[in-house]
Amino acid sequence: MIADRIQQIGFSPTLRINAKAQSMIADGIDVIDLSVGEPDFSTPENIKQAGKDAIDANFTKYTPNAGIPQLKNKIIERIKNDSGVSYEKNEIIVSSGAKNSLYNLCMSVFNQGEEAIIPAPYWVSYPHMVSLAKGVPVIIPTREENGFKLTPNDLRRAINSNTKALLINNPSNPTGAAYSREELEEIADIAVDEGLIIIADEIYEKLVYDGFRFFSIAALGEKIKQNSVIINGVSKAYAMTGWRIGYAAGPKEIIAAMDKVQSHATSNACSISQKASVEAFGGPQNEINKMVSEFQQRRNMMHYHLTQIPNVSCLKSQGAFYLFPNFSAYYDYAYEGNQIRNSHGLAYYMLKHAHVAVVPGDAFGADKFVRFSYSNSLENIQTAMDRIKDAIAKLTPVKKTTRKPLNNTITKRKTPVEVEASISLEMRDALVAESEAFMTYEGYYEWNVNIAGILVQLRTNSPHLYDFWLENFYPAQLETELEPHAIVYAVNWITGREPRAFYNPETRTGFYFKSSYYPQLRNFVLGMVIDITEKLYDIHAVRAQSVDINGDGLLLIGSPGTGKMGQFAELLKKSEIKLHSSDTVFIRYYGNEAVADVVERKFGINTGFVERYPQIVPLFDKSKCENVITSKENCDNEKCKQEDKCRLDKGSPYCFSGSKSSIAMLDPYWLGGSEKHVKRTSVKWVLLFRKDPISPAIQKLSSEEAIKILEEGRSQTSYGSMQSVPFFNPHLLNKSLDRIDLQKRYFEKLFKVAPCYVVNSGVEAEDKIEKRIEAIIAGNEEDALK
Ligand code: PMP
Repeated sequence: MIADRIQQIGFSPTLRINAKAQSMIADGIDVIDLSVGEPDFSTPENIKQAGKDAIDANFTKYTPNAGIPQLKNKIIERIKNDSGVSYEKNEIIVSSGAKNSLYNLCMSVFNQGEEAIIPAPYWVSYPHMVSLAKGVPVIIPTREENGFKLTPNDLRRAINSNTKALLINNPSNPTGAAYSREELEEIADIAVDEGLIIIADEIYEKLVYDGFRFFSIAALGEKIKQNSVIINGVSKAYAMTGWRIGYAAGPKEIIAAMDKVQSHATSNACSISQKASVEAFGGPQNEINKMVSEFQQRRNMMHYHLTQIPNVSCLKSQGAFYLFPNFSAYYDYAYEGNQIRNSHGLAYYMLKHAHVAVVPGDAFGADKFVRFSYSNSLENIQTAMDRIKDAIAKLTPVKKTTRKPLNNTITKRKTPVEVEASISLEMRDALVAESEAFMTYEGYYEWNVNIAGILVQLRTNSPHLYDFWLENFYPAQLETELEPHAIVYAVNWITGREPRAFYNPETRTGFYFKSSYYPQLRNFVLGMVIDITEKLYDIHAVRAQSVDINGDGLLLIGSPGTGKMGQFAELLKKSEIKLHSSDTVFIRYYGNEAVADVVERKFGINTGFVERYPQIVPLFDKSKCENVITSKENCDNEKCKQEDKCRLDKGSPYCFSGSKSSIAMLDPYWLGGSEKHVKRTSVKWVLLFRKDPISPAIQKLSSEEAIKILEEGRSQTSYGSMQSVPFFNPHLLNKSLDRIDLQKRYFEKLFKVAPCYVVNSGVEAEDKIEKRIEAIIAGNEEDALK
């Protein structure tokens, strides 16, 4: 029912905290709202009067699409006076708020796949606006130590042939960081050299403190002006957020394009508000000074209190009305057993226990931080800060986990579970009702986990699935009162059903019926999450084993029987090589870096892997296992029986070589702590494994060749016949053309950063292939390909 492009954008996660704050207020709780994004001052009297006069004079009809000439003239005068830059009327467009200007601009400049560089922390709407316009947001993290400002080096590294624009917010929401003239010059020079459009959101221009002199990027010279579109408006400086007036100033071709978009979408901005804005720009400006001095006092007070909290750092903002403190030191802390794990957890804790509403930094692409708005009275800020200090003081560090005895003996049978990937809404509703009817109060388990930032809630009547779910993923229990992004019903003992899974992408609801073999549920849920992250967050998943060598990552892709796992095991035996992932990595792109993350706390390792990597045998004894053999009668490993070396006979409670579908939930840190495992790596090489009697032992592939092999995904079934598993990724729920195209685009990105080699175990011995892989890692490509 809903278009794909809407599926690509998410509701602001901050809305949930806001909704919770509102419901607390409705319950009579005195919540202090520091999450606000608008001045708490009233619009000045002279401006309000101009609006009333416009109504009385019947100035209530359509106006020219791009704004009334009188307002355009005032904008031109104002820019000329403030920054000395001259614009003509056809270089200005007035829209319904700066947000509307930005949206029209994105629609006007991005072609499909063109990239916009967005420094993080960013204002929440930027990436979504770019995505809606079919552009690709490329997020470049900035550092607190650099005052949250984009450095020339970071910018240079992020630019490639697809880069179309740089989006820069000065002063910044949420950090309050503001750029000096010199800093802007360095950035603008690079952008102009590379022919990028600079989108400069200067909406907070007037709200700067401590005598800071704001500098508009367009004032740096004619060349830069020709590449820049300035976004501004009346919302913040004149406390006029509800009037909805913003504007763009830039090259006339771009303004003309925006004029077209606007003419078919909203038409002119509100006529009355335009008249009021003429007064805002043309009338007395002293209200701004009053507001600035009040904001500065509040900022000083809030900054003082925040930096009094132990282990909290906070940049003293130079502009806007926000502070963006780093609270990540408390992410390992808990209150009454509830651990804070991220900025959502922290914001939620502050709301619940300090009755103060703030915005989690994750919404701005910076999870270590939370945003505090000082658009509130000094008195309220003082009270809020006292409450926050008290609440933070109540937190205690979480003791590192004590090892619990595991129940290793439950075994479940593997049953084939087909997946129907896009069921209708009606069917989803019917399946929810059916599932809920089967889950009684006593037999119902629910747990939220965080997979790649997606909050997934399991609802199940199977304690076994629940147990493994807890073991497998990172919990997100503090957010329990927030709505999860996705829900999966895993219902066993449901009458009248075959083992089967269903997924409705619109509501992100999954159903997994009649199987309690955990790995299949895990694969299905990963499929759901991949579907969400690819569409929403520009994060894609690759089915690969991966290792890390001093921060550089190597991915191993291919189907069973190609010698891939053998090489993976050999790599792990080397002291300088760390395990990254045993199955799936999630990749996001930061400029020229492909950062791969692991989303699982414990890896479901197929126990057959011990044959290649005997080092893990003792670890399996500590692991929770599934489908292992607990009694010799169930063993189907004839070889083992004949050799008379059964683990069960030697007193072990179970044996892991008795079944092909047994897994152990291995904690990767047990291999040797952080010496032997990393959760993040930067992908440098991709190895593609195949086994045939004719291809060369190794070849370096072009991106197109590699993608062709991946798309075909020829692999062997466990019965020996051939099948096609696109991208060798059995977790892709949906193999529609769109989805396959999306995979291709992601792999194109990956191969821009990491070359792909195909190795053929059909013509060369394992140790020789191993030597070639070693040569690739050592940077001796020539030796590798010899
Ligand atoms: N840009 C930034 C950085 C903002 O913070 C805001 C408001 N939150 C806007 C644009 C939108 O302003 P307007 O109300 O004029 O649409």
